[in-house]
Amino acid sequence: MNPLLTVQELAVSFDTYAGEVKAVDKITFEVFPGEAVGIVGESGCGKSVTAHAIMRLITTPPGKFTNGRILFAGMDLLLKSEKEMEKIRGNDISMIFQDPMTSLNPVLTVGLQIAESLELHQQMNRTAAYARAVELLRLVGIPSPEQRVNNYPHQFSGGMRQRAMIAMALACEPQLLIADEPTTALDVTIQAQILDLMKELQQKLNTAIIFISHDLGAVAGLCNRVVVMYAGKIAETGTALDIFHSPQHPYTWALLQSVPRADIARQEQLAVIEGQPPDLLNPPAGCPFHPRCPHAMRICAEHYPQTTILAAAHSVNCWLQHPGAPKHQREVESHV
Ligand code: SF4
Ligand code: MG
Repeated sequence: MNPLLTVQELAVSFDTYAGEVKAVDKITFEVFPGEAVGIVGESGCGKSVTAHAIMRLITTPPGKFTNGRILFAGMDLLLKSEKEMEKIRGNDISMIFQDPMTSLNPVLTVGLQIAESLELHQQMNRTAAYARAVELLRLVGIPSPEQRVNNYPHQFSGGMRQRAMIAMALACEPQLLIADEPTTALDVTIQAQILDLMKELQQKLNTAIIFISHDLGAVAGLCNRVVVMYAGKIAETGTALDIFHSPQHPYTWALLQSVPRADIARQEQLAVIEGQPPDLLNPPAGCPFHPRCPHAMRICAEHYPQTTILAAAHSVNCWLQHPGAPKHQREVESHV
């Protein structure tokens, strides 16, 4: 099967008064049709910039693409004109954001917003588009969609707005849905419902999903594959099984230790990752995690680690995996 999306050696920088910030630094990953890929990491690690880059929503200046390609269904998105991108956005690739109010227009009814998108991208007439809007609201679990279709966003609860945004994102049956922290602003019960909904829709409609989150628990429930990012780079990538059962990067270990687990009392868990994420204006030399890494060796501060391929889909950028690493270091067990 060919990948639907290939992000190849992608680099995105921002020019600031203080200098150039390499927000995304030569990352490579693929998304296959119908699969859900999680991108995880602390804030500022480049997750959202990656999402915006795929949608070509990087404002230039100050942002700029400095390397790589984004291949979607065989097309290089970085070579598309803005006009061509407008057709692709919403139609082939949709994005949902943390705050639904950023994508819902407060002065238009929810139904009209969905209908307008269908008229524009699918050339439907108003009546057909409204009927489809009702169907979509039903699909995402909005009660009494025939009435709710005429509501304004402020008449919806937070959870319902998020559902409406998902309905809108799915209106044109995109092949790829990018969800950037879609549940962060919601309370836990609603979060779980939205995640279930996304999973159900992914299975029903075979939409590929890129799910961006700092919440590894949510990623574990939804994603087949996981990309762990640190300081604009990929630290480790693998199947969900690899990442959650056989993680090999000290940063992945640290992230997993900070996940709330139902079987451990709350006080004993949530190990905090010591230290601060690096300043991307002056990133540390070598492995960017070395100032925080309990396993750092001398080479870590000097050279960026080579990529070690551990299995077909599992690779890691850490010197511990190098055959030359001291044996006792290589045998460091994941304590998760
Ligand atoms: Fe830690 Fe070194 Fe591995 Fe970086 S390369 S994660 S500093 S052991
Ligand atoms: Mg973000």
